[in-house]
Amino acid sequence: MKGAMSDHPFIPVNEPLLDGNERRYLNECIDTGWISSDGAFVARFEEEFAAAHGCAHGISVSNGSDALEMAVAALGIGPGDEVILPAFTIISCAQAVTRAGATPVLVDSDPATWNMRPDQVADKITPRTKAIMPVHIFGLPVPMGPIMELADKHGLHVIEDGAEAIGQSCNGKPCGSFGDLSAFSFYANKHVTTGEGGMVLTNDAKLAESCRSLRNLCFENPRFVHRRLGWNMRISNLQAAVGLAQTERLEEFIAMKRAMGRRYTDSLKEIPGLTLPLTSTEEAENVYWVYGIVLEEEIPFDAGEAMARLKQAAIGARPFFWPMHEQPVFKEMGLFAGESYPVAEKLARRGFYPPSGLGLTKSQQERVIAELQRLFTD
Ligand SMILES: *Cc1c(COP(=O)(O)O)cnc(C)c1O
Repeated sequence: MKGAMSDHPFIPVNEPLLDGNERRYLNECIDTGWISSDGAFVARFEEEFAAAHGCAHGISVSNGSDALEMAVAALGIGPGDEVILPAFTIISCAQAVTRAGATPVLVDSDPATWNMRPDQVADKITPRTKAIMPVHIFGLPVPMGPIMELADKHGLHVIEDGAEAIGQSCNGKPCGSFGDLSAFSFYANKHVTTGEGGMVLTNDAKLAESCRSLRNLCFENPRFVHRRLGWNMRISNLQAAVGLAQTERLEEFIAMKRAMGRRYTDSLKEIPGLTLPLTSTEEAENVYWVYGIVLEEEIPFDAGEAMARLKQAAIGARPFFWPMHEQPVFKEMGLFAGESYPVAEKLARRGFYPPSGLGLTKSQQERVIAELQRLFTD
């Protein structure tokens, strides 16, 4: 690496911010010897995080992918059932459905918000549809009004994926509080992190109880006699200690993300050929989980080239999601044959995001902005 590249230290695409109570709470775990999932921070984290999202129950799990899998299982979704979800999302959503033996059914994204389109959801409902899985992409909420109307009208479950919309709301109601169940991730690039971790939220006491059982191998009474199969998806007290400290700062973190997003927009909005994230929609102001940039036709190179050039300047970046209908693993399974979702396909090829973690300093962001301006105006 030396010599060939920039003289500047590398700016990673994400750095978390861990300078609140994280260290103090972790020390408490170690000083008391409570490090397993039986420690007190687990329940405190679940209560705080659920309350911050308008939900009565929080069930922490090992990661966001597990949270989705558990939500699908808790609703009893299985073979013969269909679940409608966006083509443009992470594999975790679709694989939670296929692992349950059910069939994922895709819809395209809105070209401005990149979120799933409710009108296309309506078109995909069949007698086999069991649930809708809206995924709040990159920090803007899916319009939940029309989604909940469709769910009510057709008697469908709703599983919200709120991993990228922590602390976000839709018309004033917290994301994660609309569905029967919602799933969150606390991976290190999420704006509340436990390193690895996740949570299922619900307002339904029965579903909450079912999730707690599924998380813990469905131990019942007598202890080693099982009536169904679950998983070990428990998190440790150490993870929950970090999660609680992070959740305490959620409002501050959201304000920081918004300031960072505004700074990018103010500095890039005059550059022709770049489509930037919407500052706000009818439903909410963006929280910019990541700051996605889409290259329009007048930019003579694609997202891969843009990221390679940023790397030369010692700046990390990531591509957008690759759409579900173009995943080799799903093609192999015979899914989505001949289907096309043009917006998702374009986003995958022309979209990338620069650093936007909470640990990004203002001067680091200024260097990223200067590099982006050079990249697209030279
Ligand atoms: C990060 C993410 C997940 C997966 O979470 P993990 O904790 O990495 O398993 C699921 N859905 C969305 C929308 C995500 O962004």
